[in-house]
Amino acid sequence: MSASIDQLKTRLFDLNALGAAVAIMDWDQQTHMPKGGAMARGEHLGRLSRMRHELFVADETRSLLEKAKVETESGSEDEAMMRVVKRDFDLATKLPSSLVEEKSKLAAQAHEDWVIARANNDFKSFAPTLERMFEIAGEEAEHLGYKDHIYDALLDQYEEGATAADCHAMFDAIRGPQVALVKEIQAQPETDDSWLYGNWDIEKQREFTEMLVQAIGFDFGRGRQDVAPHPFCTGWSIGDIRLTTRYKEYLGSAIFGSLHEAGHGMYEQGSPSHWDLTPLAGGVSLGLHESQSRTWENIVGRSRSFWEFFLPKLQAAFPAVASYDLDTFYRGINKVKPSLIRVEADELTYNLHIMVRFEIECDILTGALKVRDLPEAWNQKYKDYLGITPETDSEGCLQDVHWSMGSIGYFPTYSMGNLLSYQIWKALEEDVPSPFALFARGEFKPVLDWLRLKVYSQGRKYTPKDLVQRVTGKPMGAEDYLAGLTAKYREVYRLA
Ligand code: ZN
Repeated sequence: MSASIDQLKTRLFDLNALGAAVAIMDWDQQTHMPKGGAMARGEHLGRLSRMRHELFVADETRSLLEKAKVETESGSEDEAMMRVVKRDFDLATKLPSSLVEEKSKLAAQAHEDWVIARANNDFKSFAPTLERMFEIAGEEAEHLGYKDHIYDALLDQYEEGATAADCHAMFDAIRGPQVALVKEIQAQPETDDSWLYGNWDIEKQREFTEMLVQAIGFDFGRGRQDVAPHPFCTGWSIGDIRLTTRYKEYLGSAIFGSLHEAGHGMYEQGSPSHWDLTPLAGGVSLGLHESQSRTWENIVGRSRSFWEFFLPKLQAAFPAVASYDLDTFYRGINKVKPSLIRVEADELTYNLHIMVRFEIECDILTGALKVRDLPEAWNQKYKDYLGITPETDSEGCLQDVHWSMGSIGYFPTYSMGNLLSYQIWKALEEDVPSPFALFARGEFKPVLDWLRLKVYSQGRKYTPKDLVQRVTGKPMGAEDYLAGLTAKYREVYRLA
């Protein structure tokens, strides 16, 4: 009879294989599958996901977890793995299956309702479904349990250990300075970036973005890039990570989308090889993951030095931008303009979109806001924080897919990623001298090596909060983010 820990690991490999099958089919569905495959794919994905879930939540897993616990040495990698699996197991088993089933049925219906409501600018027709979705989120929170705030239970599913208090602290710190800086920029003449829009050759965009992500360190021997309508990164092994991008009229769409997804991808590729196919491989949380995509997209990819090296190459590939100098290009790709749509937001205004969503989620969950009054609350907050008001709910509170899927408590992880990207960068700059001077020469390895050592190679070994403390010497805060953004945009807009 082998040790329980080995039996548990065997079970985890089985779960990993089923998870990989689901991920490959899902990736294929979003990139290559012909329309006619939809029905069968839905059937296959549903069955495989259910088989995986049932295998995971079985009593056998619980008893293996309990028996294996006494066999693991304190401080060992096995102990870290057990902690991760126990957390995943608790999340998967605390919710009664009747609630899980009701939610998944409602989500399927809600998605359809949402698509129609958004197309018809008809919030009223979506409100009852959304109301039930928020009620279910409330029930979920009660089952999952929380100490201080109902939101804590929901957020913890996406960002272990994070709380509503953390989010309030984060948004309270950034609200004033960011709203003020955006107002100051809005008083300036608008930057003309119309020359970044055009009918760009798709094959050239593919070549250019692949060259870029390879240059920063994404390993094409262990991954590839394809096209998807909504870009994402996925993978099923350290040796096989898939990026996606999209080609649009805005030249920056593919470029910054590819850099963003490559940031996720390099994090995934950076796990130690002996953790491959185990629960310890991969990113530790959504916030930490997003910190890395934002680092490569914004801090590196939207820096002047980066384009000092790459602009001549871009101009060779796209002669229409050949007459724009580095300064004009740099200002163009860092244009700030409050807009209604989150996914199109610039780096500076992005968090304001998240703040609106977080405050509304909290108010609905605590009963301070009724779902039927959501559009008014939404519009008022956009006016207060971004200085603009949506004319329709379609470009207001109906724009995001998240709530229709029941992903309530998810949004703040985007903002955490933004804050953490600057906080981790500050720590990096203490060890890697003049990283931007390296970029101007096309050198990215010292930066990637540092991130690999400190973040990527740690996989899921520590909790997100522990990892942030270890890497930066302090808990997540807003000061490095505010300092970094303020310095950058004061320079871009030549503000006093
Ligand atoms: Zn991302």
